[in-house]
Amino acid sequence: MLRSALFRDLELVIDKNFKKIPIACPVCDILIVGITDHQVFREFECCEACKTQWAWPNKNEWSAGWRPSAKTVAEFRKNRISVPSYTMRGKNAYNKTN
Ligand SMILES: [Zn+2]
Repeated sequence: MLRSALFRDLELVIDKNFKKIPIACPVCDILIVGITDHQVFREFECCEACKTQWAWPNKNEWSAGWRPSAKTVAEFRKNRISVPSYTMRGKNAYNKTN
């Protein structure tokens, strides 16, 4: 009885075009974050950085299943990981009063 009251106004919607998005890019294995990465994944099945680096310049090969070598991806990951993901650093970064 309680259950029917809780779910009375819910409607089950099945989207046949729903595509599950992984937590990390299947190419570079870096987290997929933000709406842009999600939109890019739906079209290219990779994150935006991988799209810009490989998928877009090699669009036909990419569509046919080509992917960069593991060595190339490892070098790309090394460069991406070295880029700071936020700008506030230092012991007083979070205690500024001005
Ligand atoms: Zn990627």
